[in-house]
Amino acid sequence: MADCLFCKIVAGEIPAKIVKRTDYAVAFRDIDPQAPSHVLVIPIRHLAAVREFRGEADELLLGKLLTFTADLAAELGIDRSGYRIVANTGPDARQSVDHLHFHLLGGRKMGWPPG
Ligand code: AMP
Repeated sequence: MADCLFCKIVAGEIPAKIVKRTDYAVAFRDIDPQAPSHVLVIPIRHLAAVREFRGEADELLLGKLLTFTADLAAELGIDRSGYRIVANTGPDARQSVDHLHFHLLGGRKMGWPPG
């Protein structure tokens, strides 16, 4: 998508601190970290949000993204202490970038419920 910020990061048109990349996903440091470890995991293929997943190919991608995120948590050393995977979806959840992303947050104790 021409006007998508995260598609531009995937294409290397906007700089980002990339921490992991495969043929279907990219992970990079959030520019405004909310925890000592705060990485965004995105699919390379543009999808606005989880509501757009349809069919078996998308279900497979969704599973791969979650596995990718869990593996990344282990690589970042936060799998034992714990972490949160968040997918803000739509205006009430304050999604600000319309390219699906999982926030991977860890490295501190978190509150519940989220604000
Ligand atoms: P959300 O509000 O759930 O849509 O999350 C979007 C996230 O993207 C926010 O946490 C922002 O800090 C982050 N963000 C926005 N622009 C950039 C950027 N250029 N590089 C890295 N993270 C970004």
